[in-house]
Amino acid sequence: MLREGYVPGQVIFGSHADRVVTLAVALVNELTGGQVRGRPVPRIGPTDLQSRARALLALPITAQETDELTRLAARLRPVFAAVEDGDVERAAGEVNGLLEAYRPLPYLARDEGQGGAAAWQLHFHSAGGGTEARWGAGCATALAAVLASDSWRRLGVCSAPVCDRVFVDLSRNGSRRFCSAACQNRTKAAALRARRRAGRAV
Ligand SMILES: [Zn+2]
Repeated sequence: MLREGYVPGQVIFGSHADRVVTLAVALVNELTGGQVRGRPVPRIGPTDLQSRARALLALPITAQETDELTRLAARLRPVFAAVEDGDVERAAGEVNGLLEAYRPLPYLARDEGQGGAAAWQLHFHSAGGGTEARWGAGCATALAAVLASDSWRRLGVCSAPVCDRVFVDLSRNGSRRFCSAACQNRTKAAALRARRRAGRAV
């Protein structure tokens, strides 16, 4: 979990926000349909969905919790789509909708860091109960922090053809356009083939 796109040690929005936004990305990419790396997302059954959710959160997840997380993932996707369209107003409206739905309550939790140094981390409960609300509260707050920063454009949807997976760009230069190296490579290869064809046509 938290594998793709998260570079440990490099912090863009604050280490906790970086991790939670990366989780939001993973929820959207693992639990919503659409297109992935050149093909439709394969239909998967409830059991596979549940094991994906389990792997994402590294927690035991029930079938009902899987449904709730799937619902949350569908609600997170439009934020990325709006930023990809350059429409920060629409993105802010979506995030405000999430904040209103999940009502995050901030609290400090002790994080026993490396080497025994205790640190406090800002976490978010939800005023409502349930898995969707709990994870939604954290995701909504982290996405709000991103949109309120100078780096709001770092959210996005893959630019490769036939792919709508989302990403957060935590790279130093912030020029990411693709969900994965696979999509970047196949886009490059397609452009190269197109140039070769154009060269032959002359
Ligand atoms: Zn992609």
